[in-house]
Amino acid sequence: MNGIPKDKLDEQAEFVDMMADWTYEQLAGSITGDPGIPSFQPEGICQIDPRNHERVLFSPARARRPSDNEPEDQPSAPLDPEEQVARDLARCPVCTGKTTSILDITELPSGRHTFINKNLYPVVYPGDGFAEAGDAPEIGIDGPSAMGQEARGVHLLQWFSNDHYDDIDTQDPADLKVVFGRLLMLEAKLLHGKGSKMPKTTATQGPPHNGYVGIIKNYGRLVGGSLAHGHMQIVHTNVLPRRIEDDARFHERYDVPFARHMLENNPESLTVKDFGGKIRMLIPYFMRRPLDAFFIPLGTAETHLHHLETAHIEALAEALQFATATAKAAMPQIGREPAYNIIFHTGPVGLLYVELLPYTQETGGYENMGLYMCQGSSSGTATIYRDALG
Ligand SMILES: [Zn+2]
Repeated sequence: MNGIPKDKLDEQAEFVDMMADWTYEQLAGSITGDPGIPSFQPEGICQIDPRNHERVLFSPARARRPSDNEPEDQPSAPLDPEEQVARDLARCPVCTGKTTSILDITELPSGRHTFINKNLYPVVYPGDGFAEAGDAPEIGIDGPSAMGQEARGVHLLQWFSNDHYDDIDTQDPADLKVVFGRLLMLEAKLLHGKGSKMPKTTATQGPPHNGYVGIIKNYGRLVGGSLAHGHMQIVHTNVLPRRIEDDARFHERYDVPFARHMLENNPESLTVKDFGGKIRMLIPYFMRRPLDAFFIPLGTAETHLHHLETAHIEALAEALQFATATAKAAMPQIGREPAYNIIFHTGPVGLLYVELLPYTQETGGYENMGLYMCQGSSSGTATIYRDALG
């Protein structure tokens, strides 16, 4: 293992088991009482672009966040592998323990440990919170469109393991399944955390949810990945992101969830594989950039990770591992530095799905006009992924 030893993780642990050790109020207190986070807190305001409902959060402090993922930081001549590892670890804020206190540590089948901590440069912050549960305005579907609405919440990070090089595409598959299991428990903990004082949102099963949990992953410096050590980002907030609102609007307008519509209407020739018979990987017929892919659960109508059955979660982990590894290998062949975003479409979406967006093309002027010039074809991308299946 090349990374931070378990005893150093323990020294940073404020809590060890998120399910048993803390309430939502204690989580908020851990953030506002952190020695670093309060000085990097965002402005706590959400503005909405009235043209298209895109939400904007303001966090000038994020411009100052450190990175170990920039090309100018790399040595000019290749180092021998041992020197490279020593250099990577010495520059990693996680491996050197220069990060926030830890909220959860879980042992993996390999003996390594996955853990969850707080983002030092959050996009949302608990602040004083809202007065009572349900008091928070939900900035979203039915929310008012006035200027300067209050945006609150927490911004957490889940690290695939204490090994610097473990990431979604490289991790031992048995370990990755446990990491995903932990992610869905965090989702459940946040959405059911009564002390969050977030707006009530509907759930397909069990009691109502509180607020919205947005899960993403950035890989690569070109798409916002400032740290090389593999991680997921989790935001719990009253702000419903525009793309999730799009999914909800689609459901409302056509009376079918967007993901189900894709299962029923996307050309069969663009299906890459049904993983375990539980997760379908497909290339959308409207692919905007080469290597874009969707992952949709089969035989369910669930909207959140923590409502899925274990078989679905394990198949999702397997599918995302395959797809990210394939995209990373394919990008250099088309002259692109590996970089991608993963977006979990969960919440009021009708049926959850996951989107993989490899950064295979720049966002140009026409793209910003809403007119994409895709330098590939959906069938070509389906072939690349299918060939990689072997
Ligand atoms: Zn590291």
